[in-house]
Amino acid sequence: MAGFIIAIDGPSGAGKGTIARAVAARLGYRHIDTGAMYRALAWKALREALDLADEEAMAALAARLDFEIGDGVVRVDGHDAGWAIRTPEIDKAAATVARQPKVRAALIARQRRLGASGGVVMEGRDIGTAVFPDAPVKIYLDASPEERARRRATDSAHAVGRGPLAIREIATALEERDRSDRTRTASPLLQASDAIAIDTTALPIDDVVRQVLDLVEKRTSPGRRNG
Ligand code: C5P
Repeated sequence: MAGFIIAIDGPSGAGKGTIARAVAARLGYRHIDTGAMYRALAWKALREALDLADEEAMAALAARLDFEIGDGVVRVDGHDAGWAIRTPEIDKAAATVARQPKVRAALIARQRRLGASGGVVMEGRDIGTAVFPDAPVKIYLDASPEERARRRATDSAHAVGRGPLAIREIATALEERDRSDRTRTASPLLQASDAIAIDTTALPIDDVVRQVLDLVEKRTSPGRRNG
């Protein structure tokens, strides 16, 4: 059997990437970071000097963008863009294009194709609500704003182009992005009604991974129906 779809959603700095990667490794599943797709789109649009506010142009780019995303690899047009897409400039630009319904429709279609054969841990903001609403396992990770800002400040993957920003500035940028993600009309950041919420503020990574794996076991053991 190819395996199930495990949806992991939540705001920035909640631990999605770390947990999704570890769970995928334990299960032998693919790890797909959908945030990297919005980032890759924004990165490419800025490189081509396109207008980020032009929804038609952004959606067309989202549909044709040549990217390879999965298991820690981010390639755009064959180039390794893993670092370039995690700058403060791209943080903002990705959240801007992510508000556009036509962009979301194009990327959600691609995400569904990527996950269609199962055996995937997919992380994002709307995986359990919009991309795979029938996923048998849905997790919503969250943490206190202070802890999320602290994690982002110490995350080397996000250090490029940032300079010595104070934690306060990082917290403010995170708050702005969260507000944008939660208030947009097209698939906003939101906990699915059937998702299990885990507050990771004070939990060691291993504990969260164990909780998720226990849930996977419960939800997917033979004899159980999905959900
Ligand atoms: O997860 P990450 O911080 O890399 O995501 C970058 C941005 O992409 C988010 O702030 C959000 O605006 C957008 N995003 C989204 N839906 C997803 C994943 C990311 O709107 N499924």
